[in-house]
Amino acid sequence: MNWYQYSAENLAEKLDVNMDKGLSSKQAESRLKKLGPNKLEEGKSINVLLLFFRQFQDFMVLVLLAATLISGLLGEYVDAVAIMAIVFVNAVLGFFQEQKAEKSLSKLKELSAPHAQVLRDGSWIKVPSADLVMGDIVKVTSGDRLSADLRLIKTSGLEVEESSLTGESLPVLKHENHLMDETLELGDQANMAFSGTLVTRGSGVGVVVGTGMKTAMGQIASLLVQTSRKPTPLERKLAELGKILIFTALLLTAFVVVVGVYRGHPLYEMFLAGVSLAVAAIPEGLPAIVTVALSLGVQRMIKKKAIVRKLSAVETLGCASVICSDKTGTMTENQMTVKQVSTIEDHLYVTGEGYDPFGAFFERDIETNVREIPGINRMLLYGSLCNHASILKRDDRYLVDGDPTEGALKVVGYKAGITEEQMKEWKVTYEIPFDSDRKRMTVIAEHQNGERVVIVKGAPDVLLPRSTSIYSSSGQRPLKPKDEREVENILSTMTNQALRTIAICYKTLKKGQSYNNFELEKDLTFMGITGIIDPPRKEVKRAIDDCRQAGIKTVMITGDHAKTAHAIARDLELMPEGGRVVEGAQLSSMSDDQLEAIIDETYVFARVTPHHKLRIVNAFQNRGHVVAMTGDGVNDAPAIKASDIGISMGQSGTDVAKEASSLVLLDDNFATIRSAIQEGRNIYENIRKFIRYLLASNVGEILVMLFAMFLALPLPLVPVQILWVNLVTDGLPAMALGLDQSERNVMKRPPRSPGEGVFARGLGFKIISRGFMIGIVTLIAFMMAYQGNPERLLYAQTVAFSTLVVAQLIHVFDCRSERSVFARNPFSNLYLLGAVLSSVLLMLVVIYYDPLHEVFHTMDLPIRDWLFITALGAIPTFLWGFSKK
Ligand code: ATP
Repeated sequence: MNWYQYSAENLAEKLDVNMDKGLSSKQAESRLKKLGPNKLEEGKSINVLLLFFRQFQDFMVLVLLAATLISGLLGEYVDAVAIMAIVFVNAVLGFFQEQKAEKSLSKLKELSAPHAQVLRDGSWIKVPSADLVMGDIVKVTSGDRLSADLRLIKTSGLEVEESSLTGESLPVLKHENHLMDETLELGDQANMAFSGTLVTRGSGVGVVVGTGMKTAMGQIASLLVQTSRKPTPLERKLAELGKILIFTALLLTAFVVVVGVYRGHPLYEMFLAGVSLAVAAIPEGLPAIVTVALSLGVQRMIKKKAIVRKLSAVETLGCASVICSDKTGTMTENQMTVKQVSTIEDHLYVTGEGYDPFGAFFERDIETNVREIPGINRMLLYGSLCNHASILKRDDRYLVDGDPTEGALKVVGYKAGITEEQMKEWKVTYEIPFDSDRKRMTVIAEHQNGERVVIVKGAPDVLLPRSTSIYSSSGQRPLKPKDEREVENILSTMTNQALRTIAICYKTLKKGQSYNNFELEKDLTFMGITGIIDPPRKEVKRAIDDCRQAGIKTVMITGDHAKTAHAIARDLELMPEGGRVVEGAQLSSMSDDQLEAIIDETYVFARVTPHHKLRIVNAFQNRGHVVAMTGDGVNDAPAIKASDIGISMGQSGTDVAKEASSLVLLDDNFATIRSAIQEGRNIYENIRKFIRYLLASNVGEILVMLFAMFLALPLPLVPVQILWVNLVTDGLPAMALGLDQSERNVMKRPPRSPGEGVFARGLGFKIISRGFMIGIVTLIAFMMAYQGNPERLLYAQTVAFSTLVVAQLIHVFDCRSERSVFARNPFSNLYLLGAVLSSVLLMLVVIYYDPLHEVFHTMDLPIRDWLFITALGAIPTFLWGFSKK
């Protein structure tokens, strides 16, 4: 028998599950053990050994190894072994770097792994989707990506998009009744919902009947191609740049070799020196360090509650010039409390904080018993019936489970004395769920005595036009223009106080008559409006201000009423003098050109529907902006995707929104976007810092050799010294630069232009000028020590080696700021201090530890030489110390 043929009772029996309580945690555990996790099998990961050997793939490293082998065969054993050892250590480091990058990327994947709502031991809990087992009872709602095959047992307007399985792109309406046919295609199994498909509307409950590879999706999983990570724009740019650099380095090295041979150096000696120089000068490690810097930055962002789903977003974040943010829950607390309740006759204030179900009603200053006001009493009862939220008590705190707006309505119901028993007299038999497009929710509720009412709750300006009568103490009467004006006055008073408003309407249904959705929501009786406070998050005002100083405009986008939105924008100081509020209806009547013409002065978009968001993103982009856009619902996905940085909400966001986004805010908080942008800018700056350091060092190394050859001098550095410098002096400090904190002014500069090249803003000049000077001072040190006397060669080479190392290690502090070497406290990056100190120490070991003299072609230096070496080494950095260039 197929799962869709089972009735609910048979299903419970077959899967051994209690339909009211779900599985027990014990049952779930033993099933998980037996059947394995609910996961699709993934392709094999790359073998660790292979990853290690990949480090030697680089062409120049192979040439170096070959050259070393030759020199070993020619009797230069010590050199050969030293070079081999350095190459090996280099490979080990590269390997660990790649492993780290790989690991942090997979950690990211884990963090964004999906969860499911499941009934276990009688209560609904959230578990990782991988832990679902056969027989689990699972709740799904609009925006969920299903992670197991379900036989549905309850549905409420549930629509599922199954294109990934059936190719059908239109959503399919689901139901819970069992089907009799023997053979039904997947697309026709209307009481089933399949893993990998997407809930686009409504909600439902189902029993898990297939997990992991045993799902319909699992059967075709082998057909799904695993997409590998695409390199980020910066990584791609650097790969391109790498090619140019390799070519240049090779050309210069070849030049060094040719000139050297022409000047009489032995070919073999020059060949080994040239190859070592090429290995040192080619920044083959650059892409790996960039990946490490990006992924380390990503980990720092996680600590600040931002999860990067696409590495490329880290770079784009630094370019953001506009943030379009939802209001509710992102800029505000999403802690909703009803503060006012008004009918056309009564206007009450409600006391109490948060979701605590205690509070009183006041009319002006006099406490009122709402039970004696039938209009309000009934309205609040209806507000609690047309409602999915429940209030829970945990650790002496009252929390809402479900939509906070609905939670607030439940709480005000409790305050008015509405009891669970009273509500149990009613049964909801039909529902049209809330969505941001419709801005309303409708149910049919049936009383035990047979009374049947439609309850509609939603935005007052949406419900008023659907109402033809109004509820008053004398009963229901036709809605007159005067009443409409009065309702608008009430609405205006509430919205001006930044209250979120929900109106409640109803209509009694005739017995036995059936209605379609359209008929249900017309000719309503308007009962009244509740005014809900949702205070702005404390940290948001400051974050908006920080963004403003960083040249980033913040725009509020909300489904809420324009005046409510305006009042909150005022509280948050989001809008400058002359800023505009544009409503969804206005936006719909504008052409794209008209929208673009006003978008720069618009700060609030109110009463918008999700599809407006896409137009807003496009309009900003056409005005040349880099746009970050937040969203949480299914319908937000297109706008999130179209924006440059799509941002979704970790707590309230749907799977669909998360999948479309490149950044997830774990705490749904606007201020986290600011932190992520700051981090994004910093990561990019750090990447620039080590590129600058590495390339300037390489320029210095090549030039000292080139100049020496031109001047017919002996080799100022021997191959093993060059390789050592490349490994120790270049490698460690460069990594530490990647961990540098942001400069204090990082959020005081305008956003970086997305088209900007790596060497923009003077970086190219800095690299060449500093590199040139490093080459020159090393050469001067060498010449002064050498004095044309071949007997002093070993000494001179040791001095040149030390000067090169010292010059680079001083220069690394210059790279920390784009302003000047004095702009930063040299002690503020302890990693860098550690890296520099260990490089100095290793240099001293190489120079003063006798057994290494032969290996590194060094000798003891007298102490006074260090004064001279340090003074020379400081010149490249301090020559420009006071200038901005
Ligand atoms: P944002 O886009 O900032 O998150 P929002 O949450 O205010 O804005 P929506 O959720 O689309 O936007 O709500 C729009 C309007 O719909 C609200 O102002 C309110 O009047 C009404 N509304 C909100 N939630 C419900 C609900 N659960 N049932 C009925 N109506 C609702």
